[in-house]
Amino acid sequence: MAKDRGIVFNIQKFSVNDGPGIRTVVFLKGCPLRCRWCANPESQLVQAEILWDEKKCIGCHHCLNICPQKAVVLKDGKISVNPSKCTGCGKCFRECPGKALKNEGEMKTVKEVMDVVMQDLPFYEESGGGITLSGGEMLAQPEFARSLLLEAKKHGLHTCCETTGFAKQEIFASVIENIDTILFDVKHWNSIIHREGTAVGNELILSNLKYAFEQGKDVLPRIPVIPGFNDFPEDAANLARVIKETGGTRCQLLPFHQFGENKYDQLGREYAYRNVNAYHREDLEEYRQTFIDHGIDAFF
Ligand code: SF4
Ligand code: SF4
Repeated sequence: MAKDRGIVFNIQKFSVNDGPGIRTVVFLKGCPLRCRWCANPESQLVQAEILWDEKKCIGCHHCLNICPQKAVVLKDGKISVNPSKCTGCGKCFRECPGKALKNEGEMKTVKEVMDVVMQDLPFYEESGGGITLSGGEMLAQPEFARSLLLEAKKHGLHTCCETTGFAKQEIFASVIENIDTILFDVKHWNSIIHREGTAVGNELILSNLKYAFEQGKDVLPRIPVIPGFNDFPEDAANLARVIKETGGTRCQLLPFHQFGENKYDQLGREYAYRNVNAYHREDLEEYRQTFIDHGIDAFF
């Protein structure tokens, strides 16, 4: 089923790290996983969310009074917005005198998104790039993702996605039908530990990974290397094993970083990885070598 509109929280042009060539990355809102280290916590809910920047807030409390839903509250001196009450009317962030409130997520039509994407057609043609769907998780808005991909294909674009692979197989199949390159996150080989870190098991994910390889897609498994979660030598050996079993021969390692820390403050949410040191490539050489020893070409 096609859907001509969905919630988008960012469109990033001139990306060179999200698939081949120069690309425009469209970030769709919503994700069924709750990774404890998520760098984009504002992407997790499908609906729009309001972020509060303490440094810009002048403490006038206008937002508390203006919200028709009483969704804005003051907790321990900090402003926070209850997303289950917020209707996204926009009053609070439009009227905030300090510009301390920001809306994440906006309803956009396929045409609106594609008008932006097509502005860079010459760069895609020159570099072998195109459009990448990211998130959040594009599979949280599967009909919208499918409509965007169909439209991109009508324009002859190369299509790519960054995905958790977490969806029923018929949904996954219907979305990847029009995707050329799949950057597929594999977070843990053990389903119980996977659930502890992300709130879901890994069975569906691994079966979709296998399915994608079977369809002959260009699939790149990507492993976010997270301290204390999947960074032990036995994790590298077992991740290499599951990649091989599903049909892969290579993977990309994504060292843990702290780019998302500030956003947890702005959303008024707890962050489990606060003060955990980031990884650098040189910290993970032995880890990478374990993949290679087990027959998987691992790179950064
Ligand atoms: S309206 Fe803006 S500046 Fe005033 S309290 Fe709310 S967030 Fe702060
Ligand atoms: S967007 Fe509207 S409903 Fe949501 S918090 Fe702001 S004023 Fe309230």
